This record gives sequence, C-alpha cells and structure tokens, in this order.
Amino acid sequence: MIYQLSKREGDSVPGYDLHVHTTASDGVLNGEEVIQLAIKLGLEGIAITDHDTIEGLDEGIEIGEKYQLPVIPGIELSTQYQNTEIHILGYYFDYHLSWVTDKLHYLQDARVARIGKMVDKLQKLGYDVEKDEVLSLSGSGSVGRPHLAYLLLKKGHISSVQEAFQRLIGRGCPAYVRREKLTPKEAVAFISRAGGVPVLAHPGLTKTDHLIYNLKKQGLKGLEVYHPDHGVVDEKRYCSLADKLGLVATGGSDFHGSNKDMSRFSLGGKIVSATVVNNLRQLATWGKV
Ligand code: AMP
Ligand code: ZN
Ligand code: FE
Ligand code: FE
Repeated sequence: MIYQLSKREGDSVPGYDLHVHTTASDGVLNGEEVIQLAIKLGLEGIAITDHDTIEGLDEGIEIGEKYQLPVIPGIELSTQYQNTEIHILGYYFDYHLSWVTDKLHYLQDARVARIGKMVDKLQKLGYDVEKDEVLSLSGSGSVGRPHLAYLLLKKGHISSVQEAFQRLIGRGCPAYVRREKLTPKEAVAFISRAGGVPVLAHPGLTKTDHLIYNLKKQGLKGLEVYHPDHGVVDEKRYCSLADKLGLVATGGSDFHGSNKDMSRFSLGGKIVSATVVNNLRQLATWGKV
C-alpha cells in the first residue's frame, strides 16, 4: 500500500479542502471571502479548483499568503466521455505556461458561445433572458449553466436552481446545448504535461469505474474519494480502489457558495490531511526540473 489513509480523511475540520469554487467560475464567494471563511472554520488550507479556469489562482495564492492560509493551485476540467460528463481535477500544475492559458481561453470562448445558444433556445421557448445578462452574472469568471439558472431564478421564471436543471437546462432538456470539451484522456495529459497531478473528480457521480483503470494507464494520479455526493459505500469502494491502483485518495467539499441550493456542499464539509497534500506535491513535477 502506497498511500496510508488516516481515519481523519473525509471527516470534519481541521484539514485541507481540495475542491473549492470561487467567483472565477460559478462560486458565489470571491477568493478573499472563501479564504476568510476557511480561516474562520479552522481549515489548514484549501485548493481553488474552478471550472476550466486559472483566473482566481494568482490572486487566491497571494491573499492566502497575506492571511497565512496555504492555497493550492488547482482546476476542474470538464470533459466528455461517450454520453457522460467527467470532471478531472488538476493540482500543482504550471498554470502560467502560454500553451496552458491559450487552451483554457479557447475553452472559455466555447463556454460563452454555448451559453449564447442556450439563451437563444430559452428565448424561443418564451423566456425573457439575454446573453449579456448571463455574462454580467459571471463577470470576468468562467460562465456556466449555474449562472443561467441564477438569472432564470432572479427573473422569477423558476423557483429553484434545481428546477432550472430539471426542466430547462439539464442534459436532455429543451434549452440544453452541448459544449466543446476535452476527453478525460486529453485532460489527464494536459495536467501532466503542465507538471501537475491529475485526479478524477467525484467518481461516484458517474460510476464509470472502468475508466479509472484506463486513465491510470494514461497518467491519472489520484481519485477524489471524499465528496459530498459520495455515501459511505462509495467512499469505501473508491478508497480501496485508490489503494489497489496506487492512486492518491483526495477529497473536498465542491463548495460553490449558496448557488447550488445544497448545504451539504459547505466549505470544509469534506477534508483530507496534510499527508494527502504532501503526496500530491511530491507527485507534481512543476518547479522540480
Ligand atoms: P456547465 O459547466 O456550464 O455545463 O455547468 C455545470 C455545472 O452546473 C456543474 O459543475 C454544477 O456546478 C452545476 N450543476 C449541474 N447539474 C446541476 C443540478 N442538477 N443542480 C444544480 N447545479 C448543477
Ligand atoms: Zn460548478
Ligand atoms: Fe465537478
Ligand atoms: Fe466542482
């Protein structure tokens, strides 16, 4: 067994929350607010893992230094595998490399174009929404369907974010539009090439376990065992799979602020120990050559 798990993994504070969203994507709090909350909660550190963007990382790390809270650079890449959306987390990668930022900007542009198409569909369905209104909600951050859900909620078209996903913007719904995405294999290669550590996010949500074996051969280094969407059965299953495959068992709360209507995603709700963080740091090649 390579990675010995302590009893504390996944439990409550103190520890590190390795899955946190900010206003750089679809989180409600900005980096400073998240960091202040993490300190208030007594967390040892956090990783900022916004969707397909590194926009919040420099500022987050700088603010973390100011408040003396370790902030780990991360990202959550959306990928497509057959009919399933798979999320790949990346930690400790060299996010300043020009080919990295070029690719991420390209993915951002694809997000903006896709939201435009979804707005068109909603307008045809009779909903009063404008693309610019969605973009002003995401600000300079990575725009996503949660922003669209938020706008529909604000305008009184729906009564909850969940309803928007169930009736209008979820996969298979009338206003849904597919977005251009990497494959999981490409995302793993992308993070590895940038010197980072690729980790499969919340495997219990998609139940594509065979993919874990394939991705491991392609350079996957970790599995997000501790996540609010995982029950005890999932945790146990993925913990032993991580152990069997020599993958680091990571975890985090997938905190988005309040826009998910789901309080179990509260900051620090899922954490891991410093040992896990050290394992990730050791596996990263960024800054070591
Ligand atoms: P996008 O990246 O634009 O496709 O939006 C995906 C994001 O929407 C996910 O990362 C979640 O944060 C959020 N999301 C997806 N499904 C739901 C749902 N049923 N309820 C609330 N939020 C959701
Ligand atoms: Zn999100
Ligand atoms: Fe995710
Ligand atoms: Fe997430």
